Amino acid sequence: MELLKKKIQQEGKVLSETVLKVDSFINHQMDPVLMKEIGKEFARCFKEAGITKVLTIESSGIGPALMTALELEVPMVFARKRKSLTLTEGLITTKVYSFTKQETNDVTISSHFIEKGERILIIDDFLANGQAALGLIDIVKQAGAEPVGVGIVIEKSFQDGRQLILETGIQLESLARVASLADGTVTFVD
Ligand code: 5GP
Repeated sequence: MELLKKKIQQEGKVLSETVLKVDSFINHQMDPVLMKEIGKEFARCFKEAGITKVLTIESSGIGPALMTALELEVPMVFARKRKSLTLTEGLITTKVYSFTKQETNDVTISSHFIEKGERILIIDDFLANGQAALGLIDIVKQAGAEPVGVGIVIEKSFQDGRQLILETGIQLESLARVASLADGTVTFVD
């Protein structure tokens, strides 16, 4: 997606050989025009997949997931990383190791919001080692639903996530694929 790649080139900051900071348009401040286009692009990729719901993980997945759900005209659910006083019964939980925080969190949804037989599209902002996406796939399976697709805004193709998701056989679509962050420079996969 050219608009996204241009934005990454202009505003992304390479913090290390493995971490890209995009907090001026995705992770802190959000660019709604870009988010709208991201939603349209994911909807185009998965329009034939019979998606009934979009699932993401708080907080940075919520923007792109909501815009995608709007385009597909289905609800969006976000998994919570923190325990909520109102989230008390019928919980589905999995453990996810966070690449950026370097800690393991229980990630939870209410089973009310994903029903048996639903066709779920998982959306997230980044794909690194695939732990967030695999955790969401596990939640969908625990709910008796089918993980039909994974949509990623920025994939770091030099890390393990891509391979791990492809091994599940689930359709993976990444809007920008980063081949390398070496020498402080973002290089995209052709
Ligand atoms: P994974 O679970 O695939 O190892 O990592 C994906 C999660 O970690 C995403 O939800 C994202 O929040 C965070 N993440 C991974 N790599 C990066 C990165 O280079 N930059 C930012 N801003 N977040 C990242």
